[in-house]
Amino acid sequence: MSHVERLGNQFSIPLEPDEDGYIGRECPVDSCLGYFKIKPGTGLKDPAPCHCPYCGHTAEHDKFFTPAQLEYAQSVVFRQVADAFQKDLKSLEFDHKPKGGFGIGISLKVKNSPLPPVRSYQEKQLETKVVCDKCTLHFAIYGVFGWCPDCGAHNSLHILIKNLELARKELTLAETLDTDLSEHLIGDALENIVSAFDGFGRELCSQKGSDIRFQNITAARRRVQETFSFDFAADLDADSWAIIVRAFEKRHLLAHKMGVVDEDYVRKAADPDAVAGRRVRVSSDEVAQAIGIVESLGQKLFTGFSAPTPPS
Ligand SMILES: [Zn+2]
Ligand SMILES: [Zn+2]
Repeated sequence: MSHVERLGNQFSIPLEPDEDGYIGRECPVDSCLGYFKIKPGTGLKDPAPCHCPYCGHTAEHDKFFTPAQLEYAQSVVFRQVADAFQKDLKSLEFDHKPKGGFGIGISLKVKNSPLPPVRSYQEKQLETKVVCDKCTLHFAIYGVFGWCPDCGAHNSLHILIKNLELARKELTLAETLDTDLSEHLIGDALENIVSAFDGFGRELCSQKGSDIRFQNITAARRRVQETFSFDFAADLDADSWAIIVRAFEKRHLLAHKMGVVDEDYVRKAADPDAVAGRRVRVSSDEVAQAIGIVESLGQKLFTGFSAPTPPS
């Protein structure tokens, strides 16, 4: 059998993971073409189709090669074929020496030309590394939110809970600091939980084609009820609702009014300590309470949207 025949008509080209162990993937949908990475060996043990974290498109893994990977694989194949071809030609070489007084010698000598180069490539750097809390797949994406490429679970609730954990850590750290820094960190924790909840809620709504902001929690509650016919705060008692409304209003003062109480706050926040023109006070305890409430509102919102699933 010749070298070329021995190659067969199928090639298996292993892709090398990057230095962190990830392999790049690209969504085949023209309007998406989203790039992401997955770490082989993590996630589902049985083979499953791949989900694009950005648009949710689901297809077999061999549809998600990146152009750079395909160029690389092609160049490896070209090189193997060229090498086999040259070896086959080489085996045709002969050299018949001249015989007798006026004999003519004849020979065929194959001169090897350099083999075509292998096209090397590098996987790209991405913004967020995620570990799926359902199937433990390690994957990396642009932005923050996405579907798990292995099991298709959406990571929005997971990201919210991670952010709330960070805010809890800020509160713990604040206890060890002097008053100025401590106040700053407590305020920062409050701002972080509001923006985490806002990002989370907006992500869920945008998947349903709706743009609802969650920084004003009273308006968000009403709009979710109007648009999606469920109340994400239905399980909260009146006291807890008042606490979370006040916390969100305090965040508004910190973010937009240098932390100074205005008439709008006095009207909305039902805060007995509030005096317009004075600085608002934010305690570690009320932020800790707000974190717990945001977590349960987040769970409720997530199940209210019946946990987004990728479109198939
Ligand atoms: Zn996609
Ligand atoms: Zn998963």
